[in-house]
Amino acid sequence: MCSQRIVSLSPQRLVLKVRATAELAAHVRDNPSLLRSNVNAVLERHKTSAGAPLRVSSISTTASGNVVVVAADPFTAADLLDHAEDIAHAILPNSDAYVGADCDQAWYQVLVNGVSTRVHDVEGLPSGMEILADLNEFSSHKYDWASQPRWLGSANDLEHKTRGSVILAFKTEADALHAIEHSVCVFGQLCSARRFEDVPRLRTCDNCCGLDHTARICTKPKRCGVCGSNDHTTSSHSCDQMECEFYSTSRPAGSHCEHTKLKCPHCKGEHAMRDPKCAVWQRRREALRKPQHKAAKTDGAPKLQRTKSRAAMKDAAKASSSKEQTADTTGDEGEAPAAKPKKRKDNKGKGKETA
Ligand SMILES: [Zn+2]
Ligand SMILES: [Zn+2]
Ligand SMILES: [Zn+2]
Ligand SMILES: [Zn+2]
Repeated sequence: MCSQRIVSLSPQRLVLKVRATAELAAHVRDNPSLLRSNVNAVLERHKTSAGAPLRVSSISTTASGNVVVVAADPFTAADLLDHAEDIAHAILPNSDAYVGADCDQAWYQVLVNGVSTRVHDVEGLPSGMEILADLNEFSSHKYDWASQPRWLGSANDLEHKTRGSVILAFKTEADALHAIEHSVCVFGQLCSARRFEDVPRLRTCDNCCGLDHTARICTKPKRCGVCGSNDHTTSSHSCDQMECEFYSTSRPAGSHCEHTKLKCPHCKGEHAMRDPKCAVWQRRREALRKPQHKAAKTDGAPKLQRTKSRAAMKDAAKASSSKEQTADTTGDEGEAPAAKPKKRKDNKGKGKETA
């Protein structure tokens, strides 16, 4: 999800979530005008109150392979939403690939600190659904949720912690402010809350290290983000020194032993990818950050940031970098919010983030 300031809301964009494959992404990418005609032919049968036939102006894919359909003026994604299934069937060669549809929608996020990761009667880490159920049952305020709560950080990271941070997304700013002002009661405990800003995460393809797509739809040869080799991917990089055991134990993503001759897949420099020294990486990160900084300057006051639906957001990032998909909603990629939110004055000493 991303902040509205990074990309303005696109009321005309409908995101069709699909079971993404490289073939499907190529199908959409290679036939935009044909698919648009197919969709508009289907839509022509539907009467609209505006008189003009409901039409779409473009069809594209996100970095993770979801399909973005843009409504033609004067229509919006909300008009398309009723026909999302028909639209999906007109686009997808195999209708089983269709998972669901979402409009770009603004939402307001709040970070709740110190939420128990182990809860009586719940097996393992409580799910977003379980957190939501608890919040709904024990909160006197009726919140209008924009999406399910989600943990900040991956389940793996949280496994060893007794507390974590949870991100709540509301449809209204009033609800978000209410949560911040009154704190939030989660699993019997009052937890402090503060506004939360996502910074879009610059992702790399797990297969080829590319910056504009995910491995799910990657069609490129594999490439290692540590040594630049085409013989293996980053995660299967190993060391040829007999005595080196660096890669036989679990290690932080992208880390490497001292024997490796580093070669960045992005700039060919002598460092691993994502290195702060990498000019390509820095440029891409700056491209993601700048608009936000600019906005912060122009509007000073610490207003709650509006954020867009996850799918929408990712696309934002895609324009300059990356994006994702069905995983967006199912969370099966363990997708965590990008960067750690910056520490704010109003948060001093109140719990620890798990990022
Ligand atoms: Zn790739
Ligand atoms: Zn390698
Ligand atoms: Zn080594
Ligand atoms: Zn580099």
